Amino acid sequence: MQLYAESLTEYKRLATLEVKVGDLLLGNFNPIRIQTMTTTDTMDTKATVEQSIRCIKAGSELIRITAPSKREAENLLNIKNELRLRGYNTPIVADIHFTPNAAEIAARIVEKVRVNPGNYVDKKKFELLEYSDAEYLEEIERIRDRFTPLVKICKEYGTAMRIGTNHGSLSDRIMSRYGDTPIGMVESAMEFLRIAEGENYYNIVLSMKSSNPQVMVQAYRLLIQNMQAELGHCYPLHLGVTEAGDGEDGRIKSAIGIGTLLEDGIGDTIRVSLTEDPEFEIPVCKNIIKRYESRSIEKDKILQEPSLPSSLPYSPFDYSRRSTFEISNIGSKHVPVVIADLHKIEKIRPEDLGAIGYSYDIVTDKWAISDVAADYLFTADQQIDFALPGTLKVIAYYKTWLACIDKEKYFPIFDDAQYLDDSLVRSASVNFVMLDCYSEGYPATDTEKLFSKLRSDATAVICLSSTNKNAVQSIRRMFVELEEKEIKNPVVIIVDSNYHNMDESLIHYAVETGALLLDGFGDGICLGHRFGEKKIATDNALLNSIAFGILQATRTRISKTEYISCPSCGRTLFDLQETTSKIRAVTNHLKGVKIAIMGCIVNGPGEMADADFGYVGSGPGKITLYKGKEVVKRAVSEDVAVAELISLIKENEAWVEPS
Ligand code: SF4
Repeated sequence: MQLYAESLTEYKRLATLEVKVGDLLLGNFNPIRIQTMTTTDTMDTKATVEQSIRCIKAGSELIRITAPSKREAENLLNIKNELRLRGYNTPIVADIHFTPNAAEIAARIVEKVRVNPGNYVDKKKFELLEYSDAEYLEEIERIRDRFTPLVKICKEYGTAMRIGTNHGSLSDRIMSRYGDTPIGMVESAMEFLRIAEGENYYNIVLSMKSSNPQVMVQAYRLLIQNMQAELGHCYPLHLGVTEAGDGEDGRIKSAIGIGTLLEDGIGDTIRVSLTEDPEFEIPVCKNIIKRYESRSIEKDKILQEPSLPSSLPYSPFDYSRRSTFEISNIGSKHVPVVIADLHKIEKIRPEDLGAIGYSYDIVTDKWAISDVAADYLFTADQQIDFALPGTLKVIAYYKTWLACIDKEKYFPIFDDAQYLDDSLVRSASVNFVMLDCYSEGYPATDTEKLFSKLRSDATAVICLSSTNKNAVQSIRRMFVELEEKEIKNPVVIIVDSNYHNMDESLIHYAVETGALLLDGFGDGICLGHRFGEKKIATDNALLNSIAFGILQATRTRISKTEYISCPSCGRTLFDLQETTSKIRAVTNHLKGVKIAIMGCIVNGPGEMADADFGYVGSGPGKITLYKGKEVVKRAVSEDVAVAELISLIKENEAWVEPS
């Protein structure tokens, strides 16, 4: 085991215990299972059964249904009977918050129960309490008394359990001792795990979800370490990013969080939580999992990178950006740059730059620059024949660059052999150097000479890519090598996609760059597409939007409003999809502001993490508005709640007028 995974340089799945959920086996190298959760009212048997069937047909292997009280828990029997009657044996998972009574009923009916250790017995009132050691232990004993009956029922009925910790809903007790941290999340689950093991109950799955992929990834890694150290074995892991939102942003966030762990062989079941109908989550899950299906097959043996040093020069448990020196606007304290690859456009025109955030106004003869404007343009062998916006620079192949007059605007890109050729001219300020990490044929040149030249070159920006299947591990290994050799040049991560549709490409880009950015690696990204001879304008706009979306999701470059919206469930008190799009329509120009849109007041405030403002359903037709964790307007009528939210944002000086 290397720190938290079987291997950090080779794709190997983490060994976990096998868990039986009905007839479905989870963990222990079984296929990665897909699941989702219904959004219907659990008391509406017909609607819940119909929605479950749509999800099962789409490919969901488990169906989670909320059971907020005893009534809903009891109605799970009707739902289960109806599904079985109609020929669907898919295991059902009861989702429990706050109500042990409901859990104890559900555990006798369905195949799995999910409990949240932050609110199963513990309190969550956002109170910062001080607990003495004795009081702390007393609370744990209280949990033992309340949780043990559920464990015994699960054991008796052969019911599986997920101990599902959420970053946003840690108990006041855990918060008082560990704060709002990944280790607090881990300890919260470990307390429940110890009680369960004390009863010789092992049919358990664990999760560590957060709406922030960085926190989520760190928590899972820490959990694995803790389970290994304390128990000597790992339970299967259910992966997910909570409140990821919808559309492109929701998919990017989920792919980064889930994919970063899957790249290292971690994860036995996944759920992509989107503020959309649950069946739409399934294709995203499938596209994520598909990436790993062939990796463990012998014929696809992956090239082996050099093994890792005994101690890593970075911490995978604690974010810190790799330290680099500055070259122009790249590296050091600069946010990661975005390089737009437009080289497939035969003749780049001013209007083509609209796709990458620049629009030209003929009347004023000025460029308008948006918040998501790319910083560099890769043109390969093309010179641009119009005046570019002042902030946009061009990267071209050596010979083209050499022919350019404006050496302030154009910079060359070299392969490693060209870079070592001292007869070639260099830019006085910025030179890009491509390195294909540990791929076939690597090293093509004398690497020692190459590294030594890079180390002393204050103009060289390294561009890392890998054609290996485990490219994330290859590039990450190269970052370690750069650190070992004390090479502090900034690095741009280049990811090409061979996928023939954008849905799969989006996941590919998000995982391959996001996994590295979350560990503090990368001073820029460049996304390219290999398929097709010519790219169309919409592809370029989408690639640009994905690039900025990845930087936003990894919180390395904030360029837009962030929405933390729950996926909705049977507790939801308003139409989440409609409300989210209404709020998005009037606030999507508020760069950097985080807005939570949560379906219920029972769970919403706890789950909305570090949002600046919260819009939370508090009763039929009623909304409660939050500033951070503080309630500021209660029971606002839904008809005026969006307007009231805007007033609240204005009162707190976070509003700007849309341009
Ligand atoms: S916050 Fe949303 S998903 Fe979570 S319990 Fe409430 S309504 Fe359901």
